[in-house]
Amino acid sequence: MISIVTPVYNEEENVVFFHDEVTKVMEKLDMDYELLYVNDGSTDDTNRLIHELAKTDKHVRAVTFARNFGHQIAITCGMDLARGAAVITMDGDMQHPPALIPTLIKKWEEGYDIVQTVRTSTEDSGFVKKMTSAGFYAVINSISKTPVIPGGSDFRLIDRKALHIFLKFREHSRFIRGIIGGLGFRQTTIQFEAPARHAGTSKFSMRKMIHFAMDGILTNSTVPLRIAFYVGILSGIIGVLLVFHVIYCYLMEEVVPGWATMTILISLFGSMNLMGLGIIGEYIGRIYEESKNRPLYWLSDDTGEPKNIEIDETRFTDV
Ligand code: UDP
Ligand code: MG
Repeated sequence: MISIVTPVYNEEENVVFFHDEVTKVMEKLDMDYELLYVNDGSTDDTNRLIHELAKTDKHVRAVTFARNFGHQIAITCGMDLARGAAVITMDGDMQHPPALIPTLIKKWEEGYDIVQTVRTSTEDSGFVKKMTSAGFYAVINSISKTPVIPGGSDFRLIDRKALHIFLKFREHSRFIRGIIGGLGFRQTTIQFEAPARHAGTSKFSMRKMIHFAMDGILTNSTVPLRIAFYVGILSGIIGVLLVFHVIYCYLMEEVVPGWATMTILISLFGSMNLMGLGIIGEYIGRIYEESKNRPLYWLSDDTGEPKNIEIDETRFTDV
């Protein structure tokens, strides 16, 4: 069986259309499948619609979060609950074209454990999003221990064997692309052009995007912590040069320029200190969040635990 995992957040205009498109593609393949919607705390009609679909189509399953936990957590929940021998994660707004599903499956049948898709372009993304995205991948790849493919999306197929390992990664701040890149196994990529959304607007606010980018960098690397060290060395050198400058001026009986230099240096080093503290703070905040060891997500039904779904409980105890 193949599982298709789709996180949805306020996608009332898309879920039914997406279901119909996936159904058309899957009917052509002679393969059992499930389409698992993870409703990430939607406030519109999404919840009713996906449960309707689950009632009328035996391939569809729907779970609902008690609140919005974010795209990465919703994908993780879907992967937790998926029962397929391979799991495909994809967005529900048609930006990850269902027509590509057969290609992903074909690569899997050829023996690849992870088939990663890479966006060559996105139809409705503006200049700013393109530039910030390019900058982000340049930064992360220069400091990350494992490669992160530029333009990589969360549209991918993962085999049960690799999934089994992925599910042991239970951190809250998660950048799935980075984790997957570091898993190893046999990976391949396929390229696609992302069309514009079928309907509605992006559910990623600027704040969510920045947070996601920070998570990507900070969960993948500790290099930023070293920045303060290097800046410290640099400012030490500047300090020593200034000492020579002052001695020189004293010997030449010149007046040492004072006030302006002092203010500049104080604000310069003050801001460097605070920046260093800020970077350390970002890591400490994440350590604090992780150390609370709260569940990654919970559902909105009466127990909060996923129901009517076989879950391998050992998966949660051995992490
Ligand atoms: N999404 C989600 N939780 C969120 C934000 C988005 O589950 O907090 C879902 C959304 O419904 C969509 C997918 O994640 O299916 C990708 O989101 P979106 O299309 O808004 O992102 P973009 O394509 O603009 O980067
Ligand atoms: Mg989208």
